[in-house]
Amino acid sequence: MPKYVGRFAPSPTGPLHAGSLVAALASWLDARAHGGRWLLRIEDVDTPRCVPGAHRLILQQLADCGLQADEAPMLQSQRAPQYESALQALVRAGLTYPCSCSRKDVESALQQLGRVKPRHGLLVYPGTCRPERGTPRTHKAGAWRLRVPGGALPWADRRLGPQAQDVAHNVGDFVLKRADGVYTYQLAVVVDDGQQGITHVVRGEDLSDNTARQIVLQTALGLPRPSYLHTPLVLGTNGEKLSKQNGAQALDTRAPLVALNAAAHVLGLRVQADTVPAWLAKAVRQWADHWASGGDLP
Ligand code: GLU
Repeated sequence: MPKYVGRFAPSPTGPLHAGSLVAALASWLDARAHGGRWLLRIEDVDTPRCVPGAHRLILQQLADCGLQADEAPMLQSQRAPQYESALQALVRAGLTYPCSCSRKDVESALQQLGRVKPRHGLLVYPGTCRPERGTPRTHKAGAWRLRVPGGALPWADRRLGPQAQDVAHNVGDFVLKRADGVYTYQLAVVVDDGQQGITHVVRGEDLSDNTARQIVLQTALGLPRPSYLHTPLVLGTNGEKLSKQNGAQALDTRAPLVALNAAAHVLGLRVQADTVPAWLAKAVRQWADHWASGGDLP
């Protein structure tokens, strides 16, 4: 068994909110309960979406809650060469192709195929630029897509149980590098989980839908598959998941035990202590007992 390495990987698009603390706390507890290491990664690959100062604020919020990483955080904004070399390995293996389709092109291709466009959700790429073999159909500067194999891909989630997704059918060949030169979340997260030697991914359930895509990429890049645990989401008053996009309030960590108790509640833990270190030590024991007894999270 490789030694446990976990991580928390916030995007600095704003401060942490109550929902992000649930994922941070769960990943920290799981690492500590396994006697493992816990790493941080600032997912600032999509620089235009990042908010100045958010990175420092997130680190401060985590520190206020006693969630200290075992190494200095990895910054995605500094890792373009690594993403490019992974992309080039996939190009050499014939697993990618350039694509010049705009979003509008994809929408009208789907319309011509009689496929209804989902109201929220993903546009399934119909493969317009995918060459059958050999020469790409376009050499125009554009995005790079991964050739996705067809068929259901099964994977296991420690909380949600057995999962499966046919990535070709539900997503299509997805983008690794955008036309504006930005490497995508999918590529960056897989390259970085591989680089940091992550054995256990613990993150919010809103991200579970990305897992099959990430497993496809891990396989293409010859990287090991971590174990996955997707944690319950915190819902706002409108019943939608709390997110920076729908205006979730910044987490107030001036009273860290209040914030930690709220996050623990979502994870089904009940912890009582007067100081943050005492609280965390008790929470680690509860988490370990819970998983040792084959328990289930909410
Ligand atoms: N950066 C992502 C987010 O903040 C998390 C990525 C991950 O944990 O895989 O939603």
